[in-house]
Formats: sequence, structure tokens, C-alpha cells
Amino acid sequence: MAAATKEEKFDHLVLENKNLFRSHALLKYILETSCYPREHEQLKQLREATVKKYEQLCIMNVPVDEGLLVSMLLKIMNAKKTLELGVFTGYSLLTTALALPADGKIIAIDQDKEAYEVGLPFIRKAGVEHKIDFYQSNALLFLSDLINSGKEEGSFDFAFVDADKNNYIKYHELLLKLVKVGGIIAYDNTLWFGSVAEPEEEGAEYFREISRHLKELNSFLAADPRIELVLLSVGDGLTLCRRLY
Ligand code: SAH
Ligand code: CA
Repeated sequence: MAAATKEEKFDHLVLENKNLFRSHALLKYILETSCYPREHEQLKQLREATVKKYEQLCIMNVPVDEGLLVSMLLKIMNAKKTLELGVFTGYSLLTTALALPADGKIIAIDQDKEAYEVGLPFIRKAGVEHKIDFYQSNALLFLSDLINSGKEEGSFDFAFVDADKNNYIKYHELLLKLVKVGGIIAYDNTLWFGSVAEPEEEGAEYFREISRHLKELNSFLAADPRIELVLLSVGDGLTLCRRLY
């Protein structure tokens, strides 16, 4: 075997020492020490109700550490008006609603209403239902309609994108019109269980297809001059894009 080049040695050093999650124990430590004690009571109850009703599908809710990050980001930005694409039972939606000011507004879109109704009692108990306008719709069509209405371009501070992963690149083009310059578009699950860095043959076809799309998205965003970009290894991968022009 050829001796490792300087670059390979450096890569190895970074991989060995700088990646956070060398063990599940570390993630458990972060969640238990720092996140669960800080989780809003209604978010906790919503999370528990989701586990009870949907069992394994509960992994669709963003994890607590990611929720805390999104919440702080929204407050730092003074976000007031946001889009939520892909609601499910509403963990990220309730997180957002709690972080916005009393006169904040969220347009939340999901093609399924049943799951939203599982989370709604907790949104009501948290006293933030008035900030949410929920629409049962295909999110891509809904965004096109918003643009065609001629009234919403550049009006949103923030968008959380967590619906059909195969269409993220299409969402990106529409959201660059709807989110204001300086605003943030956040794409969830961009590391897709780590599969973006694994050989293509692994996993079920549906899973691999999404992985291919997300790889394409990650490369596309890295080359997009219209945004400032950061891909965070929190949760299942969270990509933040700040619109530059
Ligand atoms: N953000 C939520 C989880 C969303 S899960 C949370 O963190 O709690 C993904 C959701 O996207 C599902 O509820 C699914 O119904 C919805 N979805 C998938 N494709 C969609 C589409 N084309 N339009 C609208 N909703 C869609
Ligand atoms: Ca998600």
C-alpha cells in the first residue's frame, strides 16, 4: 500500500478528532444533560403523543437539540413571518410558534391533516395557535400559488423545509422568491441518516432515491452564488441558506 500523502494524513486527523458523534453515548449525554431539561412542556407532550400514535414514524419530528437551535436562530433573527413545509404532528411548527413574537405568523403546509390534529391540542395548550395558518395542500403547488398571488414575494423571514425531499431543489427556486434578502431557508434531513456519504447500493430503493436527490441538492447549494450556506451535522443534517440577493 502506498504511504499516506500529507492531505490524507490531515483528513485522517480531522476525522478522528473533530467529528462529534463517535458514539451514541455522546448524543445521549447532550440530550439528557442539556436539551431535555430545556424542552418546553408542550413540546415534550407533543413528542410523547407522537411516539404513542405513530411509533417508529416519530423519528420524523425534529430532535430536541435541533429544535433548540431553530428556536434560538429565529429569536436572533427577530423572525416574524415564516413558512413551514411538512408539518406532520408539528414539533418544528410548535417550536417556531413559541419562538415568534405574539404577532408572528406561520403559514404551515402539509398534504396530511390527520397528523397535525394529533399535535394541535398541545399547540393550543401552549397558547400559540393564533400564530399559525395551516393549509392542507401540496406544498409545491401552494408556493407557486403564493408567488402568483403577487403579494408575498420577499415577505418571509424564514422557511423550514421538511416535506418531500425529492423536490428540495424545486422548493429552493420558489423560496428564493418568497424569502426576503437576508432571510433564511432551512432544509432538514440533508445528511439522510449519513447515507449521502455511503456507497449507493445500500438500503431500499425509496431510501436510495432520496439519498441521490439530497446529494444533488447538497452539491447544487454549495455552488449557488445567491446564498450563504452552512450544512450542520445536527439531527439528520440541517442546511441553512441565507439569501444574498
Ligand atoms: N417538520 C415536522 C416533520 C415533517 S415530516 C417535524 O419536525 O415535526 C414530513 C411531512 O411532509 C409529512 O407530514 C408529509 O405529509 C409531508 N409532505 C410530504 N410531501 C409533501 C408535499 N408534497 N406537500 C405537502 N406536504 C408534504
Ligand atoms: Ca425532518
